[in-house]
Amino acid sequence: MAVKQKTMDDLFLETLKDIYYAEKQILRNLPKMAKAAKTSELKQAFEQHRDETEHQIERLDQIFEMLGKPARGKTCQAIVGIVEESQEVMEDFKDSDALDAGILAAAQAVEHYEISRYGTLKTWAAQLGMKDAVKLLDETLQEEKKTDALLSKLADQAVNRKAA
Ligand code: FE
Ligand code: FE
Ligand code: FE
Repeated sequence: MAVKQKTMDDLFLETLKDIYYAEKQILRNLPKMAKAAKTSELKQAFEQHRDETEHQIERLDQIFEMLGKPARGKTCQAIVGIVEESQEVMEDFKDSDALDAGILAAAQAVEHYEISRYGTLKTWAAQLGMKDAVKLLDETLQEEKKTDALLSKLADQAVNRKAA
């Protein structure tokens, strides 16, 4: 019996499941990061991004629906590791002045993973002729980039405050 060769559609679906799983882990971790952060700006950034993340999951739900597939995640070892590292830094630097710097770095690692995934998915959706999916994936990609830029800004502000 010949094994059916996997296609680009399979690859797209598998990667969609990967980011679906990742977003759900991120949704659970963001309130913990908001709680752990010392500065109110950082707390606020995480709270706002948590709300955005809910919408991002809804967009993924819509794409699964377009494909006629059940919305189901598949364990993403990358996000498991990144989230574990963020929890480690929150625990190990709890009483440190460097806590927010550590949390910021962990949060940026999350955003960079997401930017990578959404960039890829958007490109593949275009190749597969899924115009509506391209639009949804781009909306989320822009949110992730905006969040990354905001985190960079907060990191720079912290550096400048220290220098002042
Ligand atoms: Fe996200
Ligand atoms: Fe992954
Ligand atoms: Fe994000």
